Amino acid sequence: MKRHKASEIIRLRIALIIGAGLMLAFMGADMILLPSTMYELYLFHRLFVQLPILVLVVMASYWRGFIQYREYVFTGLLVALTYSNYWLIWACWNEFEFVFPYEGTILYAFFCVFALGIPFKLAITTSVLNFTGFLVLMRLAPIYGERVTISIAFVLGSLFVCAYAKYRLDRSVSMLKDINDRLLTLSKYDPLSNLLNRRALRERSVKLLALSKRHSVSMAVLMLDLDDFKKYNDGFGHQQGDEAIKVQAEIMKSVFKRETDILGRYGGEEFIVVLSDVDKPQIEMQCNLLLAQWEAAQLPHAKGARHPFMSCSIGAVYAERVDEVTLDLLIDEADKALYRAKEKGKARYELITV
Ligand code: GH3
Ligand code: MG
Ligand code: MG
Repeated sequence: MKRHKASEIIRLRIALIIGAGLMLAFMGADMILLPSTMYELYLFHRLFVQLPILVLVVMASYWRGFIQYREYVFTGLLVALTYSNYWLIWACWNEFEFVFPYEGTILYAFFCVFALGIPFKLAITTSVLNFTGFLVLMRLAPIYGERVTISIAFVLGSLFVCAYAKYRLDRSVSMLKDINDRLLTLSKYDPLSNLLNRRALRERSVKLLALSKRHSVSMAVLMLDLDDFKKYNDGFGHQQGDEAIKVQAEIMKSVFKRETDILGRYGGEEFIVVLSDVDKPQIEMQCNLLLAQWEAAQLPHAKGARHPFMSCSIGAVYAERVDEVTLDLLIDEADKALYRAKEKGKARYELITV
């Protein structure tokens, strides 16, 4: 996130430098157009009004709150540039009866809205503000003569197109963001149990193991498997079976609540819990809680099942030191412990230490 912010600031600074470059290029073009008697007024406006405004914004980009408030900073920049341009148009007319072009107004708006990313609501607000300023300017100094009306129409039309295009763009971006968020959730979570899927479970567990190694803390892996689930499916149907999977997930969520606890669906009706910084009594207590919750659920099992109510068996492995262990080793050991729990009669846990 931090890196993303830093690269965004760099991107915005580059955009500002490009803006300053464009301004210099326009200065060259303007100087060709202007009589030399106006150079002083013109250069004063560009170099001592507009350029300092841009420099101020670049300086603001080094402020800590810049990323949070950048939209307002750029909105301020757009209004300041536009109104300073109005002042130049007015001064050129007032002092030299020179008709300075108004098109810069449109260019500033497109640059600030699209290159600097002013969002739609602020874009439409500044459009109204800047258009009002243009109307006032035309009233004070109708410098474009018979072209005043068409100039007003051009400014209004362009600012409207700018704001509307920004509305469409913001909407598309927000829709894409929503879709992306949903895809990200789908790629990480199992839709039935709402627990991590096998891949995400592995990814997070590998990270947690690395962290546990670095901080020399213990780890535990629990493998849970529903008892006689084939019989349950055969007796009550696959859909009812899915409901039992959901119950298992809810029970797990109610027992493992720490932010670092990793809960996932490993496959069919097998689940894995990965814990760090735990001790043996804590694991035993949590295994007992899982079993007790199933007991309390009193979900009648199918005929021929070992127990009258649905239950799960748990294979748990505890590693006080994790320097030498791998995730696969922990999962393998948990699997072996689970096998033993099944052999010993199901609805129980087996805890081993590595
Ligand atoms: P055991 O007590 O030894 O675990 O016996 P079991 O019958 O539970 O055997 P096993 O663990 O091999 O059962 C796997 C069964 O789980 C087979 C499959 O029909 C069922 N299953 C796997 N995924 C799903 C699922 O998403 N929904 C449902 N309803 N059943 C599933
Ligand atoms: Mg199984
Ligand atoms: Mg099973």
